[in-house]
Amino acid sequence: MSYLKKYKWEIIPQNLPIVRRNCPKCNQKTNYINTEKFRVNANKSSIDIWLIHQCGKCKSTWNMTIYERIKPFDINKDEYEKFLSNDKELAKEYAFDLNMYNRNKAEVIYEGVDYKIIQKELEAYYINKNELVIGVIFKYPIELRVDTLLSNKLGISRSKIKKLYEQGIIFIKDEKNSLNKKVKNKMEIHVLNMIENTKIIESIVQVV
Ligand SMILES: [Zn+2]
Repeated sequence: MSYLKKYKWEIIPQNLPIVRRNCPKCNQKTNYINTEKFRVNANKSSIDIWLIHQCGKCKSTWNMTIYERIKPFDINKDEYEKFLSNDKELAKEYAFDLNMYNRNKAEVIYEGVDYKIIQKELEAYYINKNELVIGVIFKYPIELRVDTLLSNKLGISRSKIKKLYEQGIIFIKDEKNSLNKKVKNKMEIHVLNMIENTKIIESIVQVV
């Protein structure tokens, strides 16, 4: 019996996006780095919370507003504790929250965000022996094209990926010209098991 193999590629960012803004001290646009630290101002009637960013050149700080004059009973207690202890996971969640940048009218740059991919083999099921499926999962939005992802992960050129795509050996259901598109959460990439393609299939199967 033959089985379809199914894999999960979980994409995990290794660093945080930066903010481009005018630094009043440098008197020019600079990159502001996310310090992963919060500033909390609290009194009895209201709380303000910011995520602190720092100019990469002169270390001037800019505080990105998370909560402004919120009532103490409106804030989640667990989250509040995390703000106070500068919880890194929470800082990461806000760092990838596009709405937060929009509300702060801040220009966010995702291009420099590096990522790693964790591959897991999922339970195989009997369906199509000639096909392998990769489900892409990520929690945080990233700027990554499908062909770049495949090229990086499989160690083959983008032109070779393009050729395999044109031959219908690599495909994504319900997507046209999908190679140029950004990777989407829960996207499924199909790879046909053909002789021309044995090495690629092997490289996917062997990579852990
Ligand atoms: Zn500066």
